[in-house]
Amino acid sequence: MNVYDSGRMADVLAPLGYVMTASPEAADMVILNTCHIREKAAEKVFSELGRLREVKAARGARGADMMIAVAGCVAQAEGEEITRRAPFVDIVFGPQTYHRLPEMVARVGRTRASRAGRKGARVLETDFPVEAKFDELPAETASQGPSAFLTVQEGCDKFCTFCVVPYTRGAEYSRPVADIVAEARRLAGAGAREITLLGQNVNAYHGAGGDGRDQGLGNLVRALADIEGVERIRYTTSHPRDMDDGLIAAHGDVEALMPFVHLPVQSGADRILEAMNRGHGVEEYLRIVDRLRAARSDIALSSDFIVGFPGESDAEFEGTMALVRQVGFAQAYSFKYSPRPGTPAATLTGQVPEPLKAERLARLQELLGRQQDAFNEASVGATVPVLLERGGRKEGQLVGRTPHMQAVHVAARAENLGRVVPVQLTKALPNSLAGEIAETMGSGAAEAASTGRAFA
Ligand code: SF4
Repeated sequence: MNVYDSGRMADVLAPLGYVMTASPEAADMVILNTCHIREKAAEKVFSELGRLREVKAARGARGADMMIAVAGCVAQAEGEEITRRAPFVDIVFGPQTYHRLPEMVARVGRTRASRAGRKGARVLETDFPVEAKFDELPAETASQGPSAFLTVQEGCDKFCTFCVVPYTRGAEYSRPVADIVAEARRLAGAGAREITLLGQNVNAYHGAGGDGRDQGLGNLVRALADIEGVERIRYTTSHPRDMDDGLIAAHGDVEALMPFVHLPVQSGADRILEAMNRGHGVEEYLRIVDRLRAARSDIALSSDFIVGFPGESDAEFEGTMALVRQVGFAQAYSFKYSPRPGTPAATLTGQVPEPLKAERLARLQELLGRQQDAFNEASVGATVPVLLERGGRKEGQLVGRTPHMQAVHVAARAENLGRVVPVQLTKALPNSLAGEIAETMGSGAAEAASTGRAFA
């Protein structure tokens, strides 16, 4: 979502004459668009700000005009602290206020021009404005290439006890269907063949349709699938609680909706899921997986896991291992629990010792890694549609993705860039596959995926 937001910030600043530049040394303005999810996020921002301060100083008198801004969730959560510890920062703004960037830039300019401004100028905008940010944004100016992001939903009302998102992105908000369709048309017109719908709780989407009634993500996907040029639709990140019948049905009958779902489960123990305030249990998660597979047999799953949540016992961790074995994941992201200041779990008793967390994570990652390898190996020999998205490291090579999100290195001419082409998968590499362009699409994709499920 930050990649998408950064592009929209560039759109907002374009009328002021700003264009993207490759390095901070050449920039009139640097915006650090930050994420608060990973550990020590704030410290990383301060260390990057220290580097930017040196860049600014090295430019001497010309550097005085350079603006430094901090955006995103760290700005939202640590705004006051940033202005205190880094007074050379000109603008600090949260993820819900970037449509106001031109106004903030103008305010810095005015303050600098005034006598008081010579000592520094700061703008802090970390409120959640009532007006909808998306209504204020201009149409996108930059093409995102063959695979594009499109934010359809933001914010979260779920308040998982380990997570900062509800505090930094605010309450759930869904954009109207018509606005999303219009943006998707523009993206397709600019060459996007795949659109990934974004939202912190993307399947909690409930935007107003043409008749004024709320529509779920399943209906939104159906509307987008009708757009000429849109060949692939994905969405992330979804919550098990919001995996409704309409979306599951869409997986069964919308061909453009890719057979790959990122569905975070976090833990395989009911007591831990309750302590996390996830709002579902293990059985419920497994039922959703079964329903998805019943709707589309070649569906592959990825997930997020947190090990060592406060109070997690050996038996509860084994529950996570058992769930992984039972489901079989094509990919996954797994982390040791680490407290986020201000979240309820940060102050829970029973914090798990670091060495135990590390040991559990190593075991889980070993299992997940084996599953991913097995999934990729089971795909070898199949001929599948691959969207070629970018050039590879080697001359004459393009890199794309299969319907199951596997990265594939393909020997292909540059004119194939941006196209969906049949590729025979020839070899499984660490974290990716190699393939060759084939004459026609085979029927092996579904077989490969269903074989991949039996790998635990
Ligand atoms: S549902 Fe996702 S974004 Fe919302 S609080 Fe839980 S982990 Fe965070």
